[in-house]
Amino acid sequence: MELKLISGTFLLVLVLATVAAADSQLGNKASAKDYAFNATCMEKVQEHIQREFGAAVTYLAMGAWANHYTVQRPGLAKFFFGSASEERQHGLAMLNYLRMRGHNSLSILPAELKPINEKYEWESPMDALRQALTMEKDITRFIKQIINYCTDAEDDHLVDYFITDFMDEQLRGQRALAGHINSLRGLLNKDPAMGNWIFDNKLNA
Ligand code: FE
Repeated sequence: MELKLISGTFLLVLVLATVAAADSQLGNKASAKDYAFNATCMEKVQEHIQREFGAAVTYLAMGAWANHYTVQRPGLAKFFFGSASEERQHGLAMLNYLRMRGHNSLSILPAELKPINEKYEWESPMDALRQALTMEKDITRFIKQIINYCTDAEDDHLVDYFITDFMDEQLRGQRALAGHINSLRGLLNKDPAMGNWIFDNKLNA
């Protein structure tokens, strides 16, 4: 009888100790694991942040070129500097998203940023706009890859966020650039001497 009581008490103590240990594990400070995100999806977003900030630096370089006194296209400079701010905002929004999802690496930002192809000057406004469109098409492709991968990984929140907050704006931006290229082409065909000047004034309006 006494032996039964002792072994019963021992069992109770063992159960309580196990529950306490489990509680203390659960009670640990919040970690990335609590958010149950797909680690590869998060890595893909982290990689993409570099592209968004890279695009921002590229647009800054394009704006600085257009602002050079030998180029003197203030409308184009305004457009490129505005685009640089938008790209920076995209990178920042993605960075905040990763943090919200519990991404905890401190080396989240790229070690260095350079304009695409390390290019700082362009042959003409058309040349710069065409490179900008190529860059945006690449970014669209990468965003689509992230959406496709994370759809398969069932990270619904990330997919919804990327489609709603980025893909729509991305496609509209791409369409605006294509429109600028066509407008400039039309003006240059009509008036090769004044086309660039008229186009720049239009952008600066
Ligand atoms: Fe962007």
